[in-house]
Amino acid sequence: MKTVHNFNAGPCALPQQAVDKAIDALKDFAGTGMPVICVSHRSKEWSAVMDECRALWKELLNIPDTHEVLFLGGGASMGFLYTAMNFLENKAGYLETGVWAKKALKEAKGLGNAYAVASSAETTFNYIPKGYEIPSDLDYFHITTNNTIYGTEIHEDIDCPVPLIADMSSDIMSRPVDVSKYAMIYGGAQKNVGPAGVTFFIVKKDLLGKVSRYIPTMLNLQTHIDGESMFNTPPVFPIFVMTETLRWVKELGGVEAIYKINKEKAALLYDEIDRNSLFVGTAAKEDRSIMNVCFVMAPGYEALQDEFMAFAKERGMVGIKGHRSVGGFRASIYNACPVESVQALVDCMKEFEALKK
Ligand SMILES: *Cc1c(COP(=O)(O)O)cnc(C)c1O
Repeated sequence: MKTVHNFNAGPCALPQQAVDKAIDALKDFAGTGMPVICVSHRSKEWSAVMDECRALWKELLNIPDTHEVLFLGGGASMGFLYTAMNFLENKAGYLETGVWAKKALKEAKGLGNAYAVASSAETTFNYIPKGYEIPSDLDYFHITTNNTIYGTEIHEDIDCPVPLIADMSSDIMSRPVDVSKYAMIYGGAQKNVGPAGVTFFIVKKDLLGKVSRYIPTMLNLQTHIDGESMFNTPPVFPIFVMTETLRWVKELGGVEAIYKINKEKAALLYDEIDRNSLFVGTAAKEDRSIMNVCFVMAPGYEALQDEFMAFAKERGMVGIKGHRSVGGFRASIYNACPVESVQALVDCMKEFEALKK
């Protein structure tokens, strides 16, 4: 198999150990003599996986008893709708930090009164708005902690006078989080915690049941709390791989340990972007994401973009093309992206500079 450095934005690199366990489980799951995708989701072997997955989430993120963790289908995009359905009564505020935030807001507008409290749209979302005031009469305030497309990130758990809801699709498990500060945290698994097909929700239980609208059964988070994420058939295979991914996080020393590695990986790449005269970073420095690193050719060198892309591709770099809405380059360096891959990209940028200057 050829060696690649996988910088895909999602789906993306997963820990090899988790992938290998998934392959094994497709042959014989937990000694059942059946592939994991062929056993009953009501079997005791499957229940053990669900229990372990839930327990790992609670342990790794220090989730308090006030909150429950759910594994559902639909993706983060369905999470936008779950949010509004379950929490919007009178008015909701959104921090508009990118396309995902806008899509989340759109779902809320479809159900009631929702608006952007602050936005960085005027500069193509290259920074996180600051100094805005969160009105105290909101049902909730919604943030996107990591803006996958633009490479900006809210690095701390903000203080919020109203229930705080966060889409953490692309930075969950990358840093410690004070879950008690959030009414809900949700996201698609396919950036940092598993394959596509499962969506995580960490919900503060006593905040549910406060809206007056009829909530369809499947969109009601209470349904899934009562059903322990098995009201209907759960996405068994993605949950299996997610469990193995979380085992890997735990073996590495947990979220604190991975956070340290993530910061080092990000610094390695940002330092090169800042040093190398051919490239410039696009996100405001103080808001730079440690998960998605976005950069473009420096002024005067724009014409070299395609050439660098080809140069990097030849050296095994995969997925460094920026999102189609912003162009340039984006290296997604999620938990499972090894430091060796980041170093390979840095070396590649250095080599390219030496060739051109
Ligand atoms: C990828 C992504 C989404 C969309 O996730 P789906 O699971 O494909 O719906 C939403 N928000 C953020 C921040 C993302 O990175």
